[in-house]
Amino acid sequence: MRGVAVGTKDLDEYARLVGEEKINEIRRLAEPLRGARVLHVNATAYGGGVAEILHNLVPLMADVGLEALWYVLEAEDPAFFDVTKRIHNALQGMPLDLSDQMRDLFLATDRANAAALPEVDFVIAHDPQAVALRHFADDGASWAWRCHIDLTDAYTPVWSFLRPYVEEHSAAIFTMPQFAQPDLSIDHLVFSAPSIDPFTEKNGPLAADEARAIVAAFRFDPARPLLVQVSRFDPWKDPSGVIDAYRRVKAEVPDVQLALLGSLADDDPEGKELLARTIAHAADDRDIRCLTDLDGVRDREVNAFQRSASVVIQKSLREGFGLVVAEALWKGIPVVGGAVGGIPLQVVDGETGFLVRTVDECADRCLRLLRDVDLRVRMGAAGHERVRQEFLITRDLRDHLRLFADLRAARTTAPTAGARPT
Ligand code: UDP
Repeated sequence: MRGVAVGTKDLDEYARLVGEEKINEIRRLAEPLRGARVLHVNATAYGGGVAEILHNLVPLMADVGLEALWYVLEAEDPAFFDVTKRIHNALQGMPLDLSDQMRDLFLATDRANAAALPEVDFVIAHDPQAVALRHFADDGASWAWRCHIDLTDAYTPVWSFLRPYVEEHSAAIFTMPQFAQPDLSIDHLVFSAPSIDPFTEKNGPLAADEARAIVAAFRFDPARPLLVQVSRFDPWKDPSGVIDAYRRVKAEVPDVQLALLGSLADDDPEGKELLARTIAHAADDRDIRCLTDLDGVRDREVNAFQRSASVVIQKSLREGFGLVVAEALWKGIPVVGGAVGGIPLQVVDGETGFLVRTVDECADRCLRLLRDVDLRVRMGAAGHERVRQEFLITRDLRDHLRLFADLRAARTTAPTAGARPT
Protein backbone atom coordinates (compact mmCIF):
# COMPACT_ATOMS: atom_id res chain seq x y z
CA MET A 1 0.00 0.00 0.00
CA ARG A 2 1.32 3.45 -0.72
CA GLY A 3 0.15 6.93 0.21
CA VAL A 4 -1.12 9.41 -2.38
CA ALA A 5 -0.11 13.04 -1.99
CA VAL A 6 -2.96 15.51 -2.36
CA GLY A 7 -3.09 19.31 -2.43
CA THR A 8 -4.85 21.63 -0.03
CA LYS A 9 -8.33 23.12 -0.17
CA ASP A 10 -10.27 25.78 1.68
CA LEU A 11 -13.89 24.90 2.47
CA ASP A 12 -14.87 28.55 2.86
CA GLU A 13 -14.38 29.13 -0.86
CA TYR A 14 -17.37 26.91 -1.55
CA ALA A 15 -19.74 29.20 0.35
CA ARG A 16 -20.34 31.39 -2.67
CA LEU A 17 -21.62 28.39 -4.60
CA VAL A 18 -23.56 26.45 -1.99
CA GLY A 19 -24.35 29.15 0.60
CA GLU A 20 -23.01 29.89 4.09
CA GLU A 21 -25.55 27.67 5.76
CA LYS A 22 -24.22 24.47 4.18
CA ILE A 23 -20.65 25.39 5.04
CA ASN A 24 -21.62 26.09 8.65
CA GLU A 25 -23.38 22.75 8.88
CA ILE A 26 -20.20 21.00 7.71
CA ARG A 27 -18.06 22.87 10.23
CA ARG A 28 -20.53 21.99 12.99
CA LEU A 29 -20.42 18.30 12.05
CA ALA A 30 -16.61 18.36 11.81
CA GLU A 31 -15.97 19.99 15.18
CA PRO A 32 -16.41 16.90 17.40
CA LEU A 33 -14.40 14.86 14.90
CA ARG A 34 -11.40 17.20 14.99
CA GLY A 35 -8.15 15.20 14.92
CA ALA A 36 -9.85 11.94 13.92
CA ARG A 37 -7.69 9.91 11.57
CA VAL A 38 -9.47 8.87 8.38
CA LEU A 39 -8.04 6.59 5.73
CA HIS A 40 -9.41 6.10 2.22
CA VAL A 41 -8.17 3.07 0.32
CA ASN A 42 -8.79 2.38 -3.35
CA ALA A 43 -7.03 0.81 -6.30
CA THR A 44 -5.65 3.71 -8.28
CA ALA A 45 -4.50 7.28 -7.80
CA TYR A 46 -5.28 8.22 -11.38
CA GLY A 47 -8.06 7.49 -13.86
CA GLY A 48 -11.72 6.91 -13.16
CA GLY A 49 -14.24 8.44 -10.84
CA VAL A 50 -13.01 7.24 -7.45
CA ALA A 51 -9.56 8.77 -7.85
CA GLU A 52 -11.22 11.94 -9.09
CA ILE A 53 -13.33 12.22 -5.94
CA LEU A 54 -10.52 11.41 -3.52
CA HIS A 55 -8.20 14.06 -4.94
CA ASN A 56 -10.83 16.57 -3.82
CA LEU A 57 -12.46 14.98 -0.78
CA VAL A 58 -9.27 14.11 1.10
CA PRO A 59 -7.92 17.71 1.19
CA LEU A 60 -11.34 19.02 2.23
CA MET A 61 -11.45 16.51 5.09
CA ALA A 62 -8.06 17.82 6.17
CA ASP A 63 -9.32 21.40 5.91
CA VAL A 64 -12.13 20.72 8.37
CA GLY A 65 -9.68 19.30 10.92
CA LEU A 66 -9.49 15.59 10.23
CA GLU A 67 -6.23 13.79 9.69
CA ALA A 68 -7.11 12.47 6.26
CA LEU A 69 -5.00 9.91 4.40
CA TRP A 70 -5.37 8.23 1.04
CA TYR A 71 -3.62 4.96 0.21
CA VAL A 72 -3.75 2.89 -2.93
CA LEU A 73 -3.40 -0.87 -3.02
CA GLU A 74 -0.23 -2.38 -4.35
CA ALA A 75 -0.19 -5.76 -6.02
CA GLU A 76 2.91 -7.90 -6.26
CA ASP A 77 1.18 -9.80 -9.05
CA PRO A 78 -0.40 -7.38 -11.55
CA ALA A 79 -2.91 -10.12 -12.46
CA PHE A 80 -4.73 -8.88 -9.34
CA PHE A 81 -6.08 -6.00 -11.42
CA ASP A 82 -7.32 -8.39 -14.10
CA VAL A 83 -9.16 -10.35 -11.44
CA THR A 84 -10.68 -7.27 -9.84
CA LYS A 85 -11.70 -5.90 -13.24
CA ARG A 86 -13.52 -9.16 -13.88
CA ILE A 87 -15.14 -8.97 -10.47
CA HIS A 88 -16.19 -5.41 -11.31
CA ASN A 89 -17.70 -6.63 -14.60
CA ALA A 90 -19.48 -9.48 -12.82
CA LEU A 91 -20.98 -7.05 -10.33
CA GLN A 92 -22.34 -5.17 -13.34
CA GLY A 93 -23.95 -8.37 -14.60
CA MET A 94 -21.36 -10.28 -16.61
CA PRO A 95 -21.15 -14.00 -15.72
CA LEU A 96 -17.82 -15.02 -14.22
CA ASP A 97 -16.47 -18.33 -13.05
CA LEU A 98 -14.31 -17.10 -10.19
CA SER A 99 -11.68 -19.82 -9.92
CA ASP A 100 -9.92 -20.78 -6.70
CA GLN A 101 -6.76 -19.31 -8.15
CA MET A 102 -8.46 -15.96 -8.75
CA ARG A 103 -9.94 -15.95 -5.24
CA ASP A 104 -6.55 -16.79 -3.76
CA LEU A 105 -4.78 -14.02 -5.64
CA PHE A 106 -7.47 -11.52 -4.71
CA LEU A 107 -7.38 -12.43 -1.03
CA ALA A 108 -3.59 -12.72 -0.84
CA THR A 109 -3.22 -9.21 -2.28
CA ASP A 110 -5.68 -7.71 0.19
CA ARG A 111 -4.00 -9.62 3.02
CA ALA A 112 -0.57 -8.23 2.07
CA ASN A 113 -1.97 -4.70 1.85
CA ALA A 114 -3.78 -5.02 5.16
CA ALA A 115 -0.44 -5.69 6.82
CA ALA A 116 0.65 -2.17 5.83
CA LEU A 117 -2.40 -0.32 7.16
CA PRO A 118 -1.64 2.70 9.32
CA GLU A 119 -3.40 3.12 12.62
CA VAL A 120 -6.53 5.23 12.11
CA ASP A 121 -10.03 5.77 13.49
CA PHE A 122 -12.05 5.34 10.29
CA VAL A 123 -11.34 3.49 7.07
CA ILE A 124 -13.33 3.90 3.88
CA ALA A 125 -12.50 0.99 1.58
CA HIS A 126 -13.59 1.73 -1.98
CA ASP A 127 -14.99 -0.85 -4.36
CA PRO A 128 -14.33 -4.59 -4.57
CA GLN A 129 -10.55 -4.27 -4.82
CA ALA A 130 -10.36 -3.19 -1.17
CA VAL A 131 -13.31 -5.12 0.23
CA ALA A 132 -11.31 -7.88 1.97
CA LEU A 133 -8.86 -5.54 3.73
CA ARG A 134 -11.11 -5.35 6.71
CA HIS A 135 -11.07 -9.16 7.01
CA PHE A 136 -7.30 -9.18 7.36
CA ALA A 137 -6.92 -5.98 9.36
CA ASP A 138 -6.12 -6.26 12.98
CA ASP A 139 -7.04 -2.79 14.14
CA GLY A 140 -9.52 -0.81 16.15
CA ALA A 141 -10.85 1.34 13.34
CA SER A 142 -14.47 1.66 12.24
CA TRP A 143 -14.73 0.45 8.66
CA ALA A 144 -17.07 1.43 5.85
CA TRP A 145 -17.17 -0.05 2.35
CA ARG A 146 -18.12 2.39 -0.38
CA CYS A 147 -19.37 0.80 -3.55
CA HIS A 148 -19.26 2.94 -6.70
CA ILE A 149 -20.51 0.20 -9.00
CA ASP A 150 -23.91 -0.30 -10.61
CA LEU A 151 -25.15 -3.42 -8.81
CA THR A 152 -28.66 -3.47 -10.29
CA ASP A 153 -27.95 -6.72 -12.12
CA ALA A 154 -25.05 -8.14 -10.09
CA TYR A 155 -24.00 -11.68 -11.01
CA THR A 156 -25.11 -13.56 -7.91
CA PRO A 157 -22.24 -16.04 -7.42
CA VAL A 158 -19.67 -13.23 -7.41
CA TRP A 159 -21.76 -11.03 -5.14
CA SER A 160 -22.19 -14.04 -2.81
CA PHE A 161 -18.41 -14.43 -2.67
CA LEU A 162 -17.95 -10.74 -1.74
CA ARG A 163 -20.90 -10.34 0.59
CA PRO A 164 -19.32 -11.82 3.76
CA TYR A 165 -16.38 -9.42 3.33
CA VAL A 166 -18.76 -6.48 2.94
CA GLU A 167 -20.64 -7.58 6.05
CA GLU A 168 -17.50 -7.38 8.17
CA HIS A 169 -17.70 -3.59 7.77
CA SER A 170 -19.76 -1.42 10.09
CA ALA A 171 -21.27 0.46 7.16
CA ALA A 172 -21.80 0.16 3.44
CA ILE A 173 -22.27 3.19 1.22
CA PHE A 174 -24.14 2.86 -2.06
CA THR A 175 -24.91 5.53 -4.61
CA MET A 176 -28.61 4.72 -4.59
CA PRO A 177 -31.02 2.31 -2.85
CA GLN A 178 -31.43 0.22 -6.02
CA PHE A 179 -27.79 -0.89 -5.68
CA ALA A 180 -28.07 -2.34 -2.16
CA GLN A 181 -28.45 -6.09 -2.47
CA PRO A 182 -31.46 -7.42 -0.55
CA ASP A 183 -29.44 -10.13 1.21
CA LEU A 184 -26.87 -7.70 2.62
CA SER A 185 -26.91 -7.53 6.38
CA ILE A 186 -25.03 -4.59 7.82
CA ASP A 187 -25.41 -2.14 10.71
CA HIS A 188 -25.34 1.08 8.69
CA LEU A 189 -26.62 1.34 5.17
CA VAL A 190 -25.88 4.73 3.66
CA PHE A 191 -27.03 6.12 0.32
CA SER A 192 -24.76 8.85 -0.91
CA ALA A 193 -23.95 9.76 -4.49
CA PRO A 194 -20.51 10.78 -5.71
CA SER A 195 -19.73 14.41 -6.35
CA ILE A 196 -17.60 16.83 -8.33
CA ASP A 197 -15.42 19.68 -7.22
CA PRO A 198 -16.34 22.94 -8.95
CA PHE A 199 -12.91 24.49 -8.34
CA THR A 200 -10.67 22.00 -10.08
CA GLU A 201 -8.86 22.45 -13.35
CA LYS A 202 -11.49 20.16 -14.84
CA ASN A 203 -14.58 21.94 -13.58
CA GLY A 204 -13.53 25.51 -12.89
CA PRO A 205 -14.27 28.43 -15.19
CA LEU A 206 -12.59 28.43 -18.58
CA ALA A 207 -13.09 31.23 -21.08
CA ALA A 208 -15.01 30.16 -24.18
CA ASP A 209 -12.17 31.40 -26.44
CA GLU A 210 -9.64 29.37 -24.59
CA ALA A 211 -11.83 26.27 -24.64
CA ARG A 212 -12.32 26.66 -28.38
CA ALA A 213 -8.58 27.06 -28.93
CA ILE A 214 -7.88 23.84 -27.03
CA VAL A 215 -10.47 21.92 -29.03
CA ALA A 216 -9.09 23.38 -32.27
CA ALA A 217 -5.59 22.26 -31.29
CA PHE A 218 -6.90 18.70 -31.44
CA ARG A 219 -8.12 19.41 -35.00
CA PHE A 220 -11.80 19.86 -34.23
CA ASP A 221 -13.56 22.81 -35.83
CA PRO A 222 -15.10 24.87 -33.01
CA ALA A 223 -17.55 26.44 -35.45
CA ARG A 224 -19.19 23.09 -36.22
CA PRO A 225 -21.45 21.01 -33.94
CA LEU A 226 -19.57 18.73 -31.59
CA LEU A 227 -20.71 15.61 -29.75
CA VAL A 228 -18.46 14.53 -26.88
CA GLN A 229 -18.22 11.46 -24.69
CA VAL A 230 -15.58 11.41 -21.96
CA SER A 231 -15.05 7.90 -20.58
CA ARG A 232 -12.53 5.20 -19.96
CA PHE A 233 -12.44 2.83 -22.92
CA ASP A 234 -14.65 0.25 -21.31
CA PRO A 235 -17.40 -1.90 -22.88
CA TRP A 236 -19.95 -0.60 -20.35
CA LYS A 237 -19.45 2.91 -21.72
CA ASP A 238 -20.43 1.63 -25.19
CA PRO A 239 -18.09 3.74 -27.34
CA SER A 240 -19.14 1.79 -30.45
CA GLY A 241 -22.78 2.60 -29.73
CA VAL A 242 -21.82 6.27 -29.51
CA ILE A 243 -20.19 6.05 -32.93
CA ASP A 244 -23.29 4.36 -34.33
CA ALA A 245 -25.51 7.09 -32.92
CA TYR A 246 -23.17 9.77 -34.28
CA ARG A 247 -23.41 8.19 -37.76
CA ARG A 248 -27.19 8.48 -37.68
CA VAL A 249 -26.91 12.10 -36.60
CA LYS A 250 -24.37 12.76 -39.34
CA ALA A 251 -26.78 11.50 -41.97
CA GLU A 252 -28.93 14.54 -41.09
CA VAL A 253 -26.34 17.02 -39.84
CA PRO A 254 -23.33 16.38 -42.09
CA ASP A 255 -20.94 18.77 -40.36
CA VAL A 256 -21.28 17.16 -36.91
CA GLN A 257 -18.08 15.93 -35.23
CA LEU A 258 -17.48 13.37 -32.49
CA ALA A 259 -14.79 13.44 -29.79
CA LEU A 260 -14.27 10.33 -27.68
CA LEU A 261 -11.97 11.18 -24.80
CA GLY A 262 -10.73 8.47 -22.49
CA SER A 263 -7.91 8.15 -20.05
CA LEU A 264 -6.19 4.81 -19.73
CA ALA A 265 -6.46 4.12 -15.98
CA ASP A 266 -3.70 2.25 -14.14
CA ASP A 267 -6.06 -0.45 -12.91
CA ASP A 268 -7.87 -0.96 -16.21
CA PRO A 269 -6.02 -3.49 -18.38
CA GLU A 270 -8.84 -3.72 -20.95
CA GLY A 271 -8.56 -0.06 -21.91
CA LYS A 272 -5.92 -0.23 -24.64
CA GLU A 273 -7.63 -3.10 -26.39
CA LEU A 274 -10.99 -1.39 -26.45
CA LEU A 275 -9.40 1.85 -27.64
CA ALA A 276 -7.96 -0.04 -30.63
CA ARG A 277 -11.36 -1.58 -31.37
CA THR A 278 -13.06 1.80 -31.10
CA ILE A 279 -10.58 3.40 -33.49
CA ALA A 280 -11.21 0.53 -35.91
CA HIS A 281 -14.96 1.07 -35.59
CA ALA A 282 -14.52 4.77 -36.39
CA ALA A 283 -12.75 3.61 -39.57
CA ASP A 284 -11.68 6.46 -41.82
CA ASP A 285 -14.18 9.08 -40.63
CA ARG A 286 -12.03 12.18 -40.17
CA ASP A 287 -14.68 13.84 -38.01
CA ILE A 288 -14.30 11.24 -35.26
CA ARG A 289 -11.26 11.34 -33.01
CA CYS A 290 -10.40 9.16 -30.01
CA LEU A 291 -8.03 10.97 -27.69
CA THR A 292 -6.41 9.85 -24.44
CA ASP A 293 -4.07 11.12 -21.78
CA LEU A 294 -1.29 9.85 -24.06
CA ASP A 295 -2.36 12.52 -26.59
CA GLY A 296 -2.17 15.17 -23.89
CA VAL A 297 -5.80 15.09 -22.78
CA ARG A 298 -5.71 16.12 -19.16
CA ASP A 299 -8.12 17.94 -16.88
CA ARG A 300 -7.96 21.26 -18.71
CA GLU A 301 -8.59 19.57 -22.04
CA VAL A 302 -11.53 17.60 -20.62
CA ASN A 303 -12.91 20.89 -19.31
CA ALA A 304 -12.50 22.50 -22.74
CA PHE A 305 -14.16 19.63 -24.62
CA GLN A 306 -17.09 19.45 -22.21
CA ARG A 307 -17.63 23.21 -22.47
CA SER A 308 -17.31 23.23 -26.25
CA ALA A 309 -19.69 20.32 -26.77
CA SER A 310 -23.07 20.98 -28.33
CA VAL A 311 -24.26 17.85 -26.52
CA VAL A 312 -22.42 15.54 -24.13
CA ILE A 313 -23.25 11.88 -24.55
CA GLN A 314 -22.89 9.24 -21.85
CA LYS A 315 -24.34 6.19 -23.52
CA SER A 316 -23.43 3.76 -20.74
CA LEU A 317 -24.95 0.29 -20.51
CA ARG A 318 -24.19 0.20 -16.76
CA GLU A 319 -23.05 3.16 -14.72
CA GLY A 320 -22.37 3.48 -11.01
CA PHE A 321 -22.88 7.22 -11.18
CA GLY A 322 -21.03 8.80 -14.08
CA LEU A 323 -19.11 11.78 -12.76
CA VAL A 324 -18.74 12.90 -16.34
CA VAL A 325 -22.48 13.55 -16.45
CA ALA A 326 -22.27 15.89 -13.46
CA GLU A 327 -19.19 17.54 -14.97
CA ALA A 328 -21.01 18.32 -18.21
CA LEU A 329 -24.22 19.49 -16.51
CA TRP A 330 -22.20 21.74 -14.21
CA LYS A 331 -20.86 23.43 -17.34
CA GLY A 332 -24.38 24.00 -18.59
CA ILE A 333 -24.23 21.34 -21.30
CA PRO A 334 -27.22 18.99 -21.64
CA VAL A 335 -26.48 15.27 -21.49
CA VAL A 336 -27.95 12.44 -23.52
CA GLY A 337 -27.31 9.48 -21.24
CA GLY A 338 -28.14 5.81 -20.93
CA ALA A 339 -31.13 5.20 -18.66
CA VAL A 340 -29.00 3.06 -16.37
CA GLY A 341 -27.49 3.08 -12.89
CA GLY A 342 -26.73 6.50 -11.47
CA ILE A 343 -27.33 8.46 -14.67
CA PRO A 344 -31.07 9.07 -14.02
CA LEU A 345 -30.14 10.67 -10.69
CA GLN A 346 -28.57 13.42 -12.75
CA VAL A 347 -30.30 13.40 -16.11
CA VAL A 348 -33.93 14.16 -15.48
CA ASP A 349 -35.46 13.12 -18.78
CA GLY A 350 -36.62 16.16 -20.72
CA GLU A 351 -35.28 18.58 -18.07
CA THR A 352 -31.51 18.33 -17.81
CA GLY A 353 -31.07 16.15 -20.89
CA PHE A 354 -32.51 12.92 -22.23
CA LEU A 355 -32.39 9.32 -21.07
CA VAL A 356 -31.99 6.78 -23.84
CA ARG A 357 -32.04 3.01 -24.22
CA THR A 358 -30.98 2.48 -27.83
CA VAL A 359 -28.69 3.87 -30.50
CA ASP A 360 -31.72 5.25 -32.35
CA GLU A 361 -33.00 7.07 -29.27
CA CYS A 362 -29.55 8.45 -28.64
CA ALA A 363 -29.30 9.79 -32.20
CA ASP A 364 -32.84 11.18 -32.08
CA ARG A 365 -32.27 13.12 -28.83
CA CYS A 366 -28.93 14.44 -30.02
CA LEU A 367 -30.63 15.71 -33.17
CA ARG A 368 -33.36 17.39 -31.17
CA LEU A 369 -30.79 19.20 -29.12
CA LEU A 370 -28.58 20.11 -32.07
CA ARG A 371 -31.59 21.67 -33.82
CA ASP A 372 -32.85 23.65 -30.87
CA VAL A 373 -30.42 26.02 -29.24
CA ASP A 374 -33.03 27.31 -26.77
CA LEU A 375 -33.65 23.78 -25.55
CA ARG A 376 -29.92 23.29 -25.07
CA VAL A 377 -29.61 26.47 -23.05
CA ARG A 378 -32.68 25.68 -20.94
CA MET A 379 -31.60 22.12 -20.18
CA GLY A 380 -28.04 23.21 -19.53
CA ALA A 381 -29.19 25.75 -16.96
CA ALA A 382 -31.43 23.18 -15.25
CA GLY A 383 -28.54 20.71 -15.20
CA HIS A 384 -26.18 23.22 -13.64
CA GLU A 385 -28.67 23.93 -10.87
CA ARG A 386 -29.29 20.22 -10.23
CA VAL A 387 -25.56 19.64 -9.76
CA ARG A 388 -25.25 22.70 -7.52
CA GLN A 389 -27.99 21.36 -5.27
CA GLU A 390 -27.09 17.66 -5.19
CA PHE A 391 -23.72 16.70 -6.55
CA LEU A 392 -21.04 19.07 -5.34
CA ILE A 393 -18.23 17.80 -3.13
CA THR A 394 -19.54 19.66 -0.08
CA ARG A 395 -22.55 17.34 0.06
CA ASP A 396 -20.25 14.32 -0.15
CA LEU A 397 -18.12 15.72 2.68
CA ARG A 398 -21.21 16.31 4.80
CA ASP A 399 -22.40 12.73 4.25
CA HIS A 400 -19.02 11.36 5.36
CA LEU A 401 -18.98 13.48 8.50
CA ARG A 402 -22.46 12.30 9.41
CA LEU A 403 -21.38 8.71 8.92
CA PHE A 404 -18.27 9.14 11.10
CA ALA A 405 -20.40 10.64 13.85
CA ASP A 406 -22.85 7.72 13.60
CA LEU A 407 -20.06 5.15 13.64
CA ARG A 408 -18.46 6.76 16.64
CA ALA A 409 -21.78 6.93 18.47
CA ALA A 410 -22.45 3.27 17.67
CA ARG A 411 -19.10 2.28 19.16
CA THR A 412 -19.36 4.32 22.31
CA THR A 413 -23.02 4.05 23.22
CA ALA A 414 -24.60 0.93 21.79
CA PRO A 415 -23.90 -2.22 23.78
CA THR A 416 -24.76 -4.19 20.66
CA ALA A 417 -22.36 -2.28 18.42
CA GLY A 418 -20.93 -4.65 15.85
CA ALA A 419 -23.92 -6.98 16.02
CA ARG A 420 -25.90 -7.66 12.89
CA PRO A 421 -29.40 -6.23 12.66
CA THR A 422 -32.21 -8.71 13.15
N1 UDP B 1 -11.69 11.25 -17.16
C1 UDP B 1 -10.61 12.05 -17.52
N2 UDP B 1 -10.07 11.92 -18.74
C2 UDP B 1 -10.55 11.05 -19.62
C3 UDP B 1 -11.65 10.21 -19.26
C4 UDP B 1 -12.20 10.36 -18.01
O1 UDP B 1 -10.15 12.89 -16.75
O2 UDP B 1 -10.01 10.98 -20.73
C5 UDP B 1 -12.30 11.48 -15.86
C6 UDP B 1 -13.68 12.08 -16.00
O3 UDP B 1 -13.60 13.46 -16.25
C7 UDP B 1 -14.31 11.71 -14.66
C8 UDP B 1 -13.68 10.36 -14.38
O4 UDP B 1 -12.48 10.28 -15.16
O5 UDP B 1 -13.94 12.64 -13.68
C9 UDP B 1 -14.60 9.22 -14.74
O6 UDP B 1 -15.55 9.03 -13.75
P1 UDP B 1 -16.93 8.36 -14.04
O7 UDP B 1 -17.67 8.29 -12.76
O8 UDP B 1 -17.64 9.07 -15.14
O9 UDP B 1 -16.59 6.91 -14.60
P2 UDP B 1 -15.66 5.71 -14.08
O10 UDP B 1 -14.40 5.82 -14.87
O11 UDP B 1 -15.43 5.87 -12.62
O12 UDP B 1 -16.44 4.49 -14.45
